Amino acid sequence: MDKIIVLIGAPGAGKGTQARLLDERRGIPQISTGDIFREMKTLDTPLAREVQEIMASGKLISDDITYKIVRERTSRDDCKATYVLDGYPRTAVQAEQLEQLAKEQGKEIQAIEVDVDSEELMKRLTGRRSCPVCGEIYNIYSMPPKVEGRCDEHPDAELVHRADDNEDSVKTRLDTYRENTAPLIDYYAKSNRLAKVDGSGDVEDIYSEIDGLL
Ligand code: AMP
Repeated sequence: MDKIIVLIGAPGAGKGTQARLLDERRGIPQISTGDIFREMKTLDTPLAREVQEIMASGKLISDDITYKIVRERTSRDDCKATYVLDGYPRTAVQAEQLEQLAKEQGKEIQAIEVDVDSEELMKRLTGRRSCPVCGEIYNIYSMPPKVEGRCDEHPDAELVHRADDNEDSVKTRLDTYRENTAPLIDYYAKSNRLAKVDGSGDVEDIYSEIDGLL
């Protein structure tokens, strides 16, 4: 049966990095609600402005708006078979809505928790930089680019620091994660759909572990 792979983990745990690798290497489309919302920010509509404001604060967009976006995105042709959700669901209501969607799409849900301790998360998030052209993620502390501030593959592009990767928003995002999203780990564990990987090691080792679970 085709699957909806759900990567659960705090902001900065490496969900995006792993989802990108699954996409590149196994052709499993990466559906990232954070990326979709960030793209919306370039639009000048009331909804886009609202999304921008909520994201900058580190809070969550409403469950219904998020569901609509996930539903629309995953109804496209590239999501006919297995796809990976990176950053969704993030609340109990979203998890319920996803059950419904999985049923409609005839897919089973497999959740993978990517676990990293909070001190490490703070460092990863405040040090995170990404290439605006290819999306490659760097870290000024642990994974710097060859030339400071420049993507290795796209040296003309200046690396960007996400607006919500500042210390205040990061605190709010980590609190929101603990309060709203972490309980989903139990939810998937109780229905025997959860596996856990240690997200603190090497990117390639973590990828192999996730790859082996699928
Ligand atoms: P991320 O890139 O996954 O860290 O998401 C960045 C921001 O987008 C979050 O802090 C939220 O404001 C918003 N967002 C992403 N995914 C969701 C979701 N599933 N539910 C609500 N808001 C979301």
